[in-house]
Amino acid sequence: MNVPFLDLKAQYDTISDEIGAALTQVLVSTAFCGGPFVAGFEEDFALFCRAQYAVGVGSGTEALWLTLVALGVGPGDEVITVPNSFIATAEAISLCGATPVFVDVHSDSLTMDPNLLERAITPKTRAVIPVHLYGQPADMDPIVDIARKYGLHVIEDACQAHGAEYNGQRVGTLGTAGCFSFYPGKNLGAYGEAGGVVTNSRKLVDKVRMLRDHGQSSKYYHAMIGMNSRMDGVQGAVLRVKLRHLTSWNHARNRHAALYRKLLTGVDGLVLPTQKEYAHHVYHLFVIRVQHRQEFMAALAERGIICGIHYPVPIHLQDAYLSLGLGKGRFPVAERSAEEVVSLPMYPELTAEQIAYVADEVKALLRYGEAMDTYARIPSYGC
Ligand SMILES: *Cc1c(COP(=O)(O)O)cnc(C)c1O
Repeated sequence: MNVPFLDLKAQYDTISDEIGAALTQVLVSTAFCGGPFVAGFEEDFALFCRAQYAVGVGSGTEALWLTLVALGVGPGDEVITVPNSFIATAEAISLCGATPVFVDVHSDSLTMDPNLLERAITPKTRAVIPVHLYGQPADMDPIVDIARKYGLHVIEDACQAHGAEYNGQRVGTLGTAGCFSFYPGKNLGAYGEAGGVVTNSRKLVDKVRMLRDHGQSSKYYHAMIGMNSRMDGVQGAVLRVKLRHLTSWNHARNRHAALYRKLLTGVDGLVLPTQKEYAHHVYHLFVIRVQHRQEFMAALAERGIICGIHYPVPIHLQDAYLSLGLGKGRFPVAERSAEEVVSLPMYPELTAEQIAYVADEVKALLRYGEAMDTYARIPSYGC
């Protein structure tokens, strides 16, 4: 049996008629950059997040970057985030001239450890960016409390968590702003690049709207230096159709996670992802932890099961960030998890049969691997 890591085609097949009709509308009206389809999506997405405002931009990276710029973060400032995210979280900080400062994550949730936050704050700190990793919100109450005490903005990196909730509140509305990616593989994915900023602040939304459109206050009158980060009309139209399905897709992800959990509970040599009591998790990824990851993944691939690694190298150890001078050993939880995490196949259209097959193969491998000490010694696995 083949179980791909992700199957965008399977999803497209279920909505192709709606998508076709929406795309035709965009073509017929030639509203390609920004325009009514983007505005319509912004309205719907704000409602979905139970927020006042949403702004469509070019990508999740630009959502983070423009939010920081709009809040006045720049050279000489520090912004605190976590080292076990996609590099874009730190890049957005660097791109506005500020310095990323990392705090380690909690060993069970792998999201920002609030107990480590306060000691990372300096007089230069301007904002905190917790990451709702894999679809589970970070522990926001203590983070927001500490940020408030020091007058810092909290910007949620919600790029993996569309529709997730923290104690019943949708992510994106827990701090000053929430930043979303609509990269095709995300829970809500466009058919190209796209991102969004969600906020309850009128001032912030006005500024992000201007920044994404060359700092224009009215046509060809520029109040500030901005850039071109408009969302395409095609993406607005696609996202508007797909948003109508997001809740049921997130429910399907939760059912798949529950089945993986049921089938893999109590298996030696494997750590299951935790689900916090405060969280409505949306399982962008279902991430287990194992030893001998490379051999484990290669053996699964031989059986038609494709997994991912999110992420193999923590940001502070990436070549791009060597200049920060943060060596190995600084963030032990993030560093250790980077060596152990394996993302099992996860997307709404997965079938129960596929999940059962993955679970059976995972169990068989771990049993065999355990007995042999390491899969590397099993010649038939070819690794
Ligand atoms: C995907 C992602 C981003 C970047 O989004 P793009 O749309 O690819 O620019 C940022 N942060 C996290 C945690 C992500 O998963």
